[in-house]
Amino acid sequence: MSFQDIRKFAKLSAAAERAALDIYERLPLSLRYHLFFSADFFRWSALLKESDDWDRDRLNDYLIEQTKDLLTHAMKHIPYYRDRFSDAGFKPEKIQSLEDLKVLPYLSKEDVRDDPAKIVDERIPLRSLKKKQTGGSSGIPLILYLNKESQDIFHAFRNSILGRIGHTPKSREVMLWHYIKLGNKNVNFTKYGNRLVLSMQYLTKERLTKYVDMVQEFQPEYILGYPSWLTVFSSHVKQYKLSPFRHIKAVITYSETLLSTQRELLEESFNCRVFSMFGMNERAAIGGECEKSAGIHFHPLFGLIEFADTVEGYKEIVATGFTNYAMPFIKYRSGDIVREHKKSCRHCGRQHKVVGTLEGRIQEFLIDKDYTLINIRPLWIADFPNVLQCQFFQDQPGKVLMKIVPSKIFSKNDEVLIKKHLGEIMGPRNDAMDIELIIVDHIRRSSAGKIIMIEQKMDLRGLFY
Ligand SMILES: [Zn+2]
Repeated sequence: MSFQDIRKFAKLSAAAERAALDIYERLPLSLRYHLFFSADFFRWSALLKESDDWDRDRLNDYLIEQTKDLLTHAMKHIPYYRDRFSDAGFKPEKIQSLEDLKVLPYLSKEDVRDDPAKIVDERIPLRSLKKKQTGGSSGIPLILYLNKESQDIFHAFRNSILGRIGHTPKSREVMLWHYIKLGNKNVNFTKYGNRLVLSMQYLTKERLTKYVDMVQEFQPEYILGYPSWLTVFSSHVKQYKLSPFRHIKAVITYSETLLSTQRELLEESFNCRVFSMFGMNERAAIGGECEKSAGIHFHPLFGLIEFADTVEGYKEIVATGFTNYAMPFIKYRSGDIVREHKKSCRHCGRQHKVVGTLEGRIQEFLIDKDYTLINIRPLWIADFPNVLQCQFFQDQPGKVLMKIVPSKIFSKNDEVLIKKHLGEIMGPRNDAMDIELIIVDHIRRSSAGKIIMIEQKMDLRGLFY
């Protein structure tokens, strides 16, 4: 259970919502877990602890067992996979080694996009699952269905990975977030229990300076956010030589790729180590750094990680997730690109696959003609009707091209709806931003083979500061 989850079920007035969050944060951890999590959470938490010491053979046996179990389940209960397996002459119950999976075809985003329910367990009514819409970084919207177990299991993994640097759900932390709604109102920040949450919706110099003061006063142990947000924040600290942060144990980044230049900047500005996490909405992979090194360690108990050839010199992460049996992604080409990978970590000794730098996107913001940064992440393109893929392109302030790959039934009316939705997202900044829609046949990948949602040609840091 997280801040966002609580917000959803506490649909009360702003004051009542804050009070509910406060009470939640004050509950002792054990009570909180017993109230909100199922037995799966406890079982997995214990298993994760134990598995940290497993050697390669023990882990390999476990992986074969899990893979066999998941794929047998898919064969029995998901007709789409049944057909794929049969076509490949693949029999999951006969798996002897992970090499046996080589004959299976990859699952692409496009395979799932048009009819996501086809990879859902046929016995489960969709309405009983948590539906999640994601536009994600790739600009290809997907609808996902999660069972309750997978959500609890996710929290067990998150706790375990963050526990490597001493973080607990009770730690005092500042969290940067897309936008914050309290009751029906958009607010700049909220504070409850050990958390200060800051909205990244619109950022001006004045707003950032105020945030720096608030963080100084709050004295967090950890700061969490997307690398792009943290970069804007820390560039501001550096540029204006604001007094240095002290006593922060780590800056935790997630969701986007953390670039090495960003890491250096964050370490310098916040005066602590950076710890990056990796996750997929599709629940096919999760990873994080370790106590002793900066590579992303993919947790083998969460999913099987393989690498497929893509553009020369790069590999694409292919994942098979073990934790969401309701809608398993099997041999899934995630669109995440890496240059190099290792079988284990020589620093901590874990038998986890480790990747160095992920080649992700750099800038997550658009900039309007008054030089206000507009955070585009809340703009889940799944909300746009009949759009197969989209991408924003910007090379001058206040002007943006939105490229759209339309579906067959896309109409003029959809264009009107998209413009209206964009207006809502831009909010008070709408007049300072001109977005032109263009219909295209396809959107090309970046030079590293990655599909990106925002092609930002301007150096935002150079411009803004
Ligand atoms: Zn390690």
